[in-house]
Amino acid sequence: MAQIISGKELAARIKQRVSGQVEELKAGGVTPCLAVVLVGDDPASAVYVRGKESDCRECGIGSRMLRLPADTTQAQLLEQLEKLAADKSVHGILVQLPLPAQIDEQAVIAAIPPEKDVDGFSPVNVGRMMIGEECFLPCTPAGCIEMLKSTGVPIAGKQAVVLGRSNIVGKPAAMLLLRENATVTICHSKTEDLAAVCAGADILVAAIGKPKFVTGDMVKPGAVVIDVGINRDENGKLCGDVDFAAAEAKASFITPVPGGVGLMTRAMLLVNTIQAARRQTGR
Ligand code: NDP
Repeated sequence: MAQIISGKELAARIKQRVSGQVEELKAGGVTPCLAVVLVGDDPASAVYVRGKESDCRECGIGSRMLRLPADTTQAQLLEQLEKLAADKSVHGILVQLPLPAQIDEQAVIAAIPPEKDVDGFSPVNVGRMMIGEECFLPCTPAGCIEMLKSTGVPIAGKQAVVLGRSNIVGKPAAMLLLRENATVTICHSKTEDLAAVCAGADILVAAIGKPKFVTGDMVKPGAVVIDVGINRDENGKLCGDVDFAAAEAKASFITPVPGGVGLMTRAMLLVNTIQAARRQTGR
């Protein structure tokens, strides 16, 4: 039976550390501040934004919420971002995705100055991550690596399989695993023999957005399974991309959904915001 990697416990530890760092910054006259921009009224996005707001409050980080109507134009959004970019009291800027169809997401992400891009999605930060330079790491993949490291199981030399190749999860997760010296395979919708590829993984990261897609026979005995997926099952209950009960019986470690990667994603955003405040104020 696998041991559970608790996102709740790990995130609580990270938040405690962040709170201490906030105190230090405040003692030096700096209040770290995160600006979150929400366009439209997507209910899931509204929940995520409220979560980010409450995380900031809990750790003493200032937050500025900018809620814009669903018919906001790209030019209007870019104008707001320009103001936030120039505002010295704002250290991190996050635009909640997805954006309404009339707005080009990539253009918006590229408009966030790299030093304030705490989501780590801007081309500059992505490029820096690729070449191993200092940058903001995207929160979900960075959270996955923290969870893996917390197990004490070595990553170097291991066969890691990442299911999914999105720009925000799959690709950067693969890159960070490579940085940790894993041998990495990325699977996607065109992969042949996907089940067999997964079954060879010492580390399996599932990020495809399909409820319980990873079945027990796709999990190598003793593997570490990181489930990024956030889905609803046939009963409307929150579940991951992994069939938890089946995988738990075979893996050595596994992350739960809920209570897993999602909480770590939130915690890593706080870590990035502190880093942004430190870098911008030279502390
Ligand atoms: P995307 O939809 O952007 O990407 C999904 C990826 O999975 C694509 O690369 C796609 O392949 C691949 N895929 C889809 N179906 C299959 C299939 N049947 N077989 C093989 N590959 C497949 O999703 P995201 O990366 O944004 O998110 C993935 C999941 O993670 C979602 O459930 C999302 O809610 C969750 N998530 C959780 C976060 C957290 O904090 N826990 C944060 C972000 C996301 P192809 O490229 O070929 O189309």
